Amino acid sequence: MSVIDEVLQANEIYARTHELRPLTPRPLRKLAVLTCMDTRLSIRTLGLKTGDAHIIRNAGGIVTDDSIRSLLVSHHLLGTEEFMVINHTDCGLMQTSEQDLRTRIQNRSGTAAISPAFFYAFQNIDENVRHQLQKLRTHPWIPQSVAIRGFVYDVSNGRLREIKDF
Ligand SMILES: [Zn+2]
Repeated sequence: MSVIDEVLQANEIYARTHELRPLTPRPLRKLAVLTCMDTRLSIRTLGLKTGDAHIIRNAGGIVTDDSIRSLLVSHHLLGTEEFMVINHTDCGLMQTSEQDLRTRIQNRSGTAAISPAFFYAFQNIDENVRHQLQKLRTHPWIPQSVAIRGFVYDVSNGRLREIKDF
């Protein structure tokens, strides 16, 4: 049985009670978190429950056109008032470069591709978080009233460290 089949079985069991049914699309704690897809990061790490926050994830926890899209919907349509950007130590995107990643995948696949335009590989994690904050703070559709803060999650000790960008 594939993992997806196992998930379908688990969903059958979940649906008997469907305990998350009372939740609405609006995050209860008016928080949006942009972070990496890394397996070691979870709402548990942040003391959050399902329904508390929007969790927007991509490789690296990068402010891309698409994560901005999600954050705009989160604030303007669904009422979030604080944005948290979290990168983490030992991120896959830190162990490579833009060109290396592109070459590796191209060699495995035996063909070139025009998309994605960027993988957003990075070397300095503090700098990378600051860069993401800057992209959000300068966006004309994100009002000053939205609190935007950035962090590095240390996968070895489980702690968040805040990155100040001013
Ligand atoms: Zn990562």
